[in-house]
Amino acid sequence: MRYDLLIRGGRVVDPLNTIDTIADLGVVDGKISTLENGIDPIHAAEVIDAAGLLVMPGIVDAHVHVVREDVKGVGYTMLLRKGVTTALDMSGPIDAVMEETLAYGQGLTVLSLHALGIGKDIKTNDPGREEIAAAIDAVLEKGAFGIKILGGHYPLTPEATALIIEECAKRGVYIATHAGTTKTGSNILGLEEAVDLSQGHPLHVAHVNAYCRGQIEDPISEARRMLDKLRKNPHIVSEGYLSVMNGTTAAFTENDTPKSNVTRTWLEKKGYTANRAGMAKAIEEGWALIYANGGGEMTYLSPEQGMAYWKKSGYTANCSFPVNNPVAMLAAATGRREDGSFVVNAISTDGGGIPRNVIFENGIRLVGMRYMELRDFVAKSTLYPARMLGLTNKGHFSPGADADIAVFDMATAAARYTITGGKIRMAGGICSGGPGTLVTTEQGLRAAKGIGLPCILADMHNSTFRNGN
Ligand SMILES: [Zn+2]
Repeated sequence: MRYDLLIRGGRVVDPLNTIDTIADLGVVDGKISTLENGIDPIHAAEVIDAAGLLVMPGIVDAHVHVVREDVKGVGYTMLLRKGVTTALDMSGPIDAVMEETLAYGQGLTVLSLHALGIGKDIKTNDPGREEIAAAIDAVLEKGAFGIKILGGHYPLTPEATALIIEECAKRGVYIATHAGTTKTGSNILGLEEAVDLSQGHPLHVAHVNAYCRGQIEDPISEARRMLDKLRKNPHIVSEGYLSVMNGTTAAFTENDTPKSNVTRTWLEKKGYTANRAGMAKAIEEGWALIYANGGGEMTYLSPEQGMAYWKKSGYTANCSFPVNNPVAMLAAATGRREDGSFVVNAISTDGGGIPRNVIFENGIRLVGMRYMELRDFVAKSTLYPARMLGLTNKGHFSPGADADIAVFDMATAAARYTITGGKIRMAGGICSGGPGTLVTTEQGLRAAKGIGLPCILADMHNSTFRNGN
């Protein structure tokens, strides 16, 4: 037997095949080939010594933002450096994601949900069925895997929200929502409303921890309501993340009001006025954290640097508020159904180009605290999100599976190697370059091929998204 790559002597964890053992993992032609002991390295073209390290399927991050307006390609490198091999992009824009996946993808598998923009893809916050149908088709033709509703930031009417979910269901297309409409907000009422508006159709409710920040009740009651609602509606898929930081924009309209409702909420909640002057004060006092490119990664700036950067950006930079509740994060990560399965499908980051790619470093802490077993953490960051997205060849080490592999140092929580399609794409923080791969629909294949972007066809037949939990 000849191997293209041999990963020797690591602790190999593969929840699907109930494997947790020290072994050698052999890769041939980009696929998992052999898992056994004592493979002679002479049979391998390339060898990684993984003694003392954890070898797990590559992380499937079910909520990222790869594209940042002010710097190209940075999100991809940040993901690879954290052991991510597949990423569900949660806003697009699809044209930019495709360009960047081609130029900077570095072997990552990317699925992109294009956020329907008011005044861009749709005219108003209350489009009718025909306008919605045309907007969805236009976005799919460009290569999107599906649609995102950014309700919490830029609300649509409940009627329009329900129509979008319905039109996506008709097409068998992926739809995710940041909950909230003109009637609710980015809070627990928004989450409950989003589930109701789905009317039994497939829907991915994004970052479910983020609706439990104590806006309506105390965060613990809200976390309980979130879990209850999802338990009663097993057709909904979801993810939650493990960072106190949210993600929003410090951009303002001509009328000096925040463009995003999330930004408005968290300025006002902390007693700042919802205008540029209030934002300036919030930045100065460390409540609003501006982030920007620093040394090839997005990073949070000091208040002084943040203020200077925000001004230089013409008051449009992105920012975070430290508003996520730890109980809600834990509830989303560990909450279970009666049959023992997890209520929330995946641990995600809402990261990529936002500096909070902490699935492994914070997830492994939950294992350390015995809130979950290692196999559960690995499943919830690889296998279950892969199933959600219909990627049956990812998230496990069955023979013939895609050789997407992450090698971690558990002591430092650092990713040492990220491997996709059997090739080493990141080693010791250094990334390989080259294009990524886009997962797209039948409608989007032409656009992807047209720019020479490697692509594969989405297949939702065996997905949790389509079939429910
Ligand atoms: Zn997001």
